[in-house]
Amino acid sequence: MPICFDLDGTLGHFGGGYTLLREALGELWGGEPGSEELRRCAGSTDWEIVEELHRNRFGRDLEEAHYLEFQEACLSRFEGAFPPGASGHAVFTGPLGALRGLRARGFSVAIVSGNAPRLLDFKLERLGVPPEVPRIGSLPRLSRSALLLRMVAGCRGPHAYLGDRPHDAEAAQAAGIPFVGVGDRVPGDHPVLPEAADPEAFLQVLAPGLSGLRIRQ
Ligand SMILES: [Mg+2]
Repeated sequence: MPICFDLDGTLGHFGGGYTLLREALGELWGGEPGSEELRRCAGSTDWEIVEELHRNRFGRDLEEAHYLEFQEACLSRFEGAFPPGASGHAVFTGPLGALRGLRARGFSVAIVSGNAPRLLDFKLERLGVPPEVPRIGSLPRLSRSALLLRMVAGCRGPHAYLGDRPHDAEAAQAAGIPFVGVGDRVPGDHPVLPEAADPEAFLQVLAPGLSGLRIRQ
């Protein structure tokens, strides 16, 4: 284990995130990337996306120090847009409840996300995920599957990854980890549950791989 969860679209949703990312880059670069330019990016992590946009605009690779500047610029925008106690974000109680249920039953869980690390910490805090839950955000030069592999390294299986998009399913497949889809944007041969499903429904799907997991009926 661990059972790994993506964040955006899987445990909750922070509307307007792409707008804030564009604004942060606009501040750093003197002009925001266009929505079409952003849509064409092939990567699914902040490093991959910012690196591709940077190379397209400046014709050279992104430096780590500049990625950290992006992270800070983005974080300050999120802090302004989602202040403490406000409810501007959505919480998906099914998958989040499953994460809590697994922890309560002694199973290990983790977050593997494309958000830059400090942005990931911020969003997890807003979602009420305790800081003790291991997490890995977007690190320089690592794909999502590499992030997954880094999280499960040295841990005995079974593992799983829950995500809401095809790039999550592809990353799980590349890492050799079973995948569970959340919502209707990730069709495939894997199990899929709506984000509004009951936490127990998620546990039911995960149960065959987790010996000793008891489900309340
Ligand atoms: Mg997602």
